[in-house]
Amino acid sequence: GDETAAFVHSDTPTKLKVTGIELFSLGDFADGDDRQEIVLRDASAGVYKRPVLKDDRIIGTVLYGETADGAWFNDLKKKQTDISEMRDTLIFGQSYQGGAPLDPMAAVAALPDDAEICGCNGVCKGKIIGAITGKGLTSLDDVRAHTKASASCGSCTGLVEKLMVLTLGDTYNPAAVQPMCSCTALGHDEVRRLIKAKGLKTIPAVMQELEWKTSCGCAKCRPALNYYLVCDWPDEYADDYQSRFINERVHANIQKDGTYSVVPRMWGGVTSASELRAIADVVDKFEIPMVKVTGGQRIDMLGIRKEDLPAVWADLGQAGFVSGHAYAKGLRTVKTCVGSDWCRFGTQDSTGLGIRIEKFMWGSWTPAKVKMAVSGCPRNCAEATCKDVGVICVDSGYEIHFAGAAGLDIKGTEVLGLVRTEDEALEHIVALTQMYREQARYLERIYKWAKRVGIEEIKRQIMDDGEKRRAYYERFVFSQKFAQVDPWSERVSGKDKHEFRPMASVGFAEAAE
Ligand code: SF4
Repeated sequence: GDETAAFVHSDTPTKLKVTGIELFSLGDFADGDDRQEIVLRDASAGVYKRPVLKDDRIIGTVLYGETADGAWFNDLKKKQTDISEMRDTLIFGQSYQGGAPLDPMAAVAALPDDAEICGCNGVCKGKIIGAITGKGLTSLDDVRAHTKASASCGSCTGLVEKLMVLTLGDTYNPAAVQPMCSCTALGHDEVRRLIKAKGLKTIPAVMQELEWKTSCGCAKCRPALNYYLVCDWPDEYADDYQSRFINERVHANIQKDGTYSVVPRMWGGVTSASELRAIADVVDKFEIPMVKVTGGQRIDMLGIRKEDLPAVWADLGQAGFVSGHAYAKGLRTVKTCVGSDWCRFGTQDSTGLGIRIEKFMWGSWTPAKVKMAVSGCPRNCAEATCKDVGVICVDSGYEIHFAGAAGLDIKGTEVLGLVRTEDEALEHIVALTQMYREQARYLERIYKWAKRVGIEEIKRQIMDDGEKRRAYYERFVFSQKFAQVDPWSERVSGKDKHEFRPMASVGFAEAAE
């Protein structure tokens, strides 16, 4: 190798990954006597652009409101392009160079192959086009899977789609239904519709009737089909545990070292001295190396060997604990504040309502994880306004929120509506969850589903149409009859015991199965 080669620093542009806020920053944009800045500020349109120049080269850029030219500014900076010829029009972006506004497609076409398109994963234009042509990719999901472009925050999705149009021409149709996976040409919605319409009640029946291209499906379609069948036929379909991901198969969360973490349910985040003693005893007995309080107001025990899980659950079960479903595409937690029982500002019994919701809804499977919270007043100590479903208690009743996010995406909730009583709050939350269960695509969080079907449509069905709401509620209640079984106690009693046997005691014949 070249022993004289030295590390060369390169600035990485940053995009703020907050829904609804477009912010791009690059390089050095501090003031200085040797620098000039060009500023465009349009307050009413919410647009601010400020490239910073030194010796006719870009050294930094801030874009707010309109960030589509971020890749272009980055490229100019990286290549130290002399911008003196285009200084008058620089601020208007790449489309305006040459004197006349260009088609935005032409602007993307003009980007060099090494222009960075996806800042999160460092993917450049040439790599994306190479993958589209070389691997025959035709959908955005394909491009995400093969290049990682647009697979994280998604803010470069528009650029990636333009590259797809440039490369594929009319054959790229973003409105076309995306197949569930390569085993079928059908999309999730069509499969869900046909499962109901044709009365399909097993995975083999779905695959046969809907002409699956593979004999057994794949890791994408099997968990999805399993969920759709559990949701649509709660009393008839026998859950296929082999179609679940590892965490749902063993009812614990696998960790990076192959051990597991266990989170018992603590209704509404409330615990007691006897529960804490039982947890402490389990920690001592099984020499659990890490105990952690979670963001959902639970206690997480980490570093448990798989073969110890049933014994850990047996001890926890004796203390009255059931699974906290911290691993499930299902109801995870209902976080609460202390509410009117303890807090001077509390308007309602937020703790009591949270516990009631959790006891009513635990065990239910959903398309993706569901986290809830109840705050006793608008001070919102339980952080209900970034949850999948949240309640803010007020003097006049319960304000129900939904479709928040606080992970890779950050998004405040939408207001579903205000109801007067706890009973009404429960009915509306249950109905909303059932609507989501019946309509969302597998792995689609509530905020993504709500964006797809429309906030107003959800409000219309849940707030305005009492008959529909009641029907959703009843269907949820029916399905809970079959769902509210503690998976930990089932496994303590021997269910799926081969899963928890140490590898050394599994014979070769079994291991090969
Ligand atoms: S949200 Fe309101 S009621 Fe609940 S703890 Fe905070 S201040 Fe008290």
